Amino acid sequence: MIAAVLERAGTVAIRDVPAPRAANGLALVRVGQAGVCGTDVKIAAGEIPVPDGRVLGHEMTGWVEVPGRHGDPPAGTAVMVNPAVFCGRCDLCRRDLPQLCRNGGLLGRDADGCFAELVAVDEALLHPIPGSVTADAGALLQVLSTCVHAQSALHSSPDDSAVVIGLGVTGLLHLQLLRARGLRTVIGVTGSEWKRDLARRLGASTVASSADGSSATAAGAVDAAGVDEVDEVDEAIADATGGRGARFVIDCAGTPATFAQAVRLAGAGGTIVAFGINPRVTDVTPYEWYIKELTIHSPRAAGPRDCDTAIELCARGQLDVGPLVTGRFPLSRLADALAATRDPAQLKVVVDVDSRVRAA
Ligand SMILES: [Zn+2]
Ligand SMILES: [Zn+2]
Repeated sequence: MIAAVLERAGTVAIRDVPAPRAANGLALVRVGQAGVCGTDVKIAAGEIPVPDGRVLGHEMTGWVEVPGRHGDPPAGTAVMVNPAVFCGRCDLCRRDLPQLCRNGGLLGRDADGCFAELVAVDEALLHPIPGSVTADAGALLQVLSTCVHAQSALHSSPDDSAVVIGLGVTGLLHLQLLRARGLRTVIGVTGSEWKRDLARRLGASTVASSADGSSATAAGAVDAAGVDEVDEVDEAIADATGGRGARFVIDCAGTPATFAQAVRLAGAGGTIVAFGINPRVTDVTPYEWYIKELTIHSPRAAGPRDCDTAIELCARGQLDVGPLVTGRFPLSRLADALAATRDPAQLKVVVDVDSRVRAA
């Protein structure tokens, strides 16, 4: 089969490799489409070390080719694959934290992934998707499930206010999920004018301009500019919240500057969701989050229930996902797809592994 293989750190090749086998009760999935994200870019560039020969890719939907041990779901079923492998037996799985499983890992990093025609996975990772889920929604299911997971710990009421910093794919999904929860005050913050326009179209009640790092590359470059614009954001949030600060701040940019901004914008007793992975904390002191008794929530990956919720939301057409898929490439052009993922003018870039996806 054709697959994108990490030959060595920094070099990805599209080549013919032996297809995985449905051994040991594993199911075999024929990959339809695969989303590309910053993690793939980092693995391809050698910034996240993985063994040579690894097949990359972890955001996928496809069809069951050979069912797993229990025959469920059966052959031909359209499925999303949860790439967060878990064992179901360890103490963390038993505490209902499968995304933190001690024996787990991520497909495309710790096991072969989905930039390939076939992938072998445990059937516990398969989530059937109904026909009402569009191809674009399917491409976003995995990343949406991580946003659903991040918000599952929030207890909100419609009167609560929320700020989303960084309006890339995850920021724009978070914003829509907050609206779907009934929040009336949802403020989007980004340095990009077209993303602010899009956020308004997708339901933001207010948008504010800040160089927030959301225009940084997927590889995590940090835009240090924009300090002089901070006041504009502070003012917008003060206006929108009657001077109280936000009940929830979701930092999707994940830079030291945006984390400090999140601490500043959150009101007393508020919650910060550190969604973008922040390499370090430099621009804020623990005193600043102590004095407001902030909760700092650090969600990681997604569990099976989050995948099902994401599928349900898309099946009901509750989110506007069409504008979020901005690039599609065949598997043979994975290098272009990885380059496009670094481009701040793109949102979600998708690899069409099987030609049936486009037709759908
Ligand atoms: Zn991803
Ligand atoms: Zn486990």
